[in-house]
Amino acid sequence: MKPADAPDALAALVEALRRLPGVGVKSAQRMAYHLLQHDRDGALRLSHALDHAVHGIRHCERCHTFTEQPVCVTCLDPARDTRLLCVVETPADQAAVERTGTYRGLYFVLMGRLSPLDGVGVQDIGLPELMARVREDEVREVIVATNFTAEGEITAHAVAEALRALDVRVTRLARGVPIGSELEYVDLGTIAHAFSERR
Ligand SMILES: [Zn+2]
Repeated sequence: MKPADAPDALAALVEALRRLPGVGVKSAQRMAYHLLQHDRDGALRLSHALDHAVHGIRHCERCHTFTEQPVCVTCLDPARDTRLLCVVETPADQAAVERTGTYRGLYFVLMGRLSPLDGVGVQDIGLPELMARVREDEVREVIVATNFTAEGEITAHAVAEALRALDVRVTRLARGVPIGSELEYVDLGTIAHAFSERR
């Protein structure tokens, strides 16, 4: 991996950059050289931002999304309809739904998706907490907005199964969203339409 005479600090930086998704050795080396040679200020800002985010950002106690407070601003917003709960896989998907500006309910962010092959089970995506939340808050409708990928569909099925015993309506976004797609990359009009056409 490491060129024979590369300093340890440089090798460590390349190794650290390789942790990013989609970044191989070549890209990591290019980034490291770029930062050290052309943008040391940017490198320091990146370093501080990472440190600040890692230490300051936690999961909302209610919806599990990222927040710097115990409970996020969305969950604390009194204008939200607490009887509507939208289940999404990630904060990025939640942001995509928010951008449509048409949804006024609350969220439950799974922070992942069921993936039996990778050992991700119902506990890991917080289904027990989701059930407790639906019961305690007297949620009227749960809108399952997991992605239209194979794992997203398995997850949607598991959510519906888990909620079957509870007195709540469970709906799924309509099929206007292309199969195999992730919500965060779908255009706003399509998401808004899928919401209004949910079944
Ligand atoms: Zn929250």
